[in-house]
Amino acid sequence: MAVPFRRTSKTKKRMRRTHLKKELPGITTCPNCGAAIKPHRACPECGNYKGKEVIKTDKTEE
Ligand SMILES: [Zn+2]
Repeated sequence: MAVPFRRTSKTKKRMRRTHLKKELPGITTCPNCGAAIKPHRACPECGNYKGKEVIKTDKTEE
């Protein structure tokens, strides 16, 4: 089995890890009210998901 001839230097290790970064969680806008929301979740502002109201909120109740 091949074995590394030299220890990877701090610089080389850090240069390699510049590509390893955590992805930011996705943020989209609600098509109904335009608020910034998380994808695949009902909108907390208007309670809409996939074009239908799925949660009763203060703003939609009359
Ligand atoms: Zn909304």
